[in-house]
Amino acid sequence: MNDPVSPLINLPDEMLHISLLDGLVRVLFCRTTQASRTMADIHLPSPVALAACSRIMTGTLMLSVMMKGDNESVTVTVAGNGPAGKITCVGNGNRVKISPENPQADLPLKTDGHLDVGGYIGHTGRLTVIKDLGLKEPYIGQVALASGEIGEDFARYYTVSEQKPSLVALGALVHEGTCLSSGGILVQPMPGCPDSVIEQLEIRSMFFSAISREVADMSLDDLYTRWFDGLDPVLLEREPVVCQCDCSRSRMERALLSMGKTELKQLIEEDGKAELTCHFCRKTRLFTREQLEELLKNATRS
Ligand SMILES: [Zn+2]
Repeated sequence: MNDPVSPLINLPDEMLHISLLDGLVRVLFCRTTQASRTMADIHLPSPVALAACSRIMTGTLMLSVMMKGDNESVTVTVAGNGPAGKITCVGNGNRVKISPENPQADLPLKTDGHLDVGGYIGHTGRLTVIKDLGLKEPYIGQVALASGEIGEDFARYYTVSEQKPSLVALGALVHEGTCLSSGGILVQPMPGCPDSVIEQLEIRSMFFSAISREVADMSLDDLYTRWFDGLDPVLLEREPVVCQCDCSRSRMERALLSMGKTELKQLIEEDGKAELTCHFCRKTRLFTREQLEELLKNATRS
């Protein structure tokens, strides 16, 4: 594959919130290249897994930046019948983390030379979105996968589950195992948006078909002003986005305690220690016998 894009391009990751035609259409447009590279450093994915995970992270970030509360989060699970197994991604504001089940699984390129993301995920399965809004019950939406190519699957989620038909393009450009560029766009007409505008948006969606290449070396501002020329694009907000885990030792202590006291006691007797690895950042934390006994003592006291 001839690749004119330099791996040295380091434009910052950011999410742009844009409105068209005085609020008739909402657009989210982002570059997630650095986040994808961070993810790749953690999970050492195959090229196809890198592309799949990048797309899922970008789609999840679009959901999470639309949620405004500090304690709100969204968990996206993609579970298809392909070698990927289950991929879980959590977004919290402008932060995202991801846990792929089989990041090393690989597939040959498709006949058109593209990475076979749909084959890796599987063409049948489910995309589940759980929004924790800090209320008693989370909001849960689930759709059957449209293709396993992720962009179409998120589009189906918005249309079927949220009743907001949307155009979604997600892409990652991977070369020799490295993410050169990653990004995405969501175009969401508000209720009452005239059909003529929707037709215009569909025509312009051709511009997004190679989105990862577009965002590689062009500023997002130059791109959206060109793509939405004549539709009064207005930038409402710009924020950085990042792949970052929020795990902690105290969170792992809670996980140990949730095993139950009997099981914890058994663990101390049999193993004399516990080594816990976070599925999202692969960081391992060691709990010594003394620390586990202390934990058990405090739990018994409470
Ligand atoms: Zn972690």
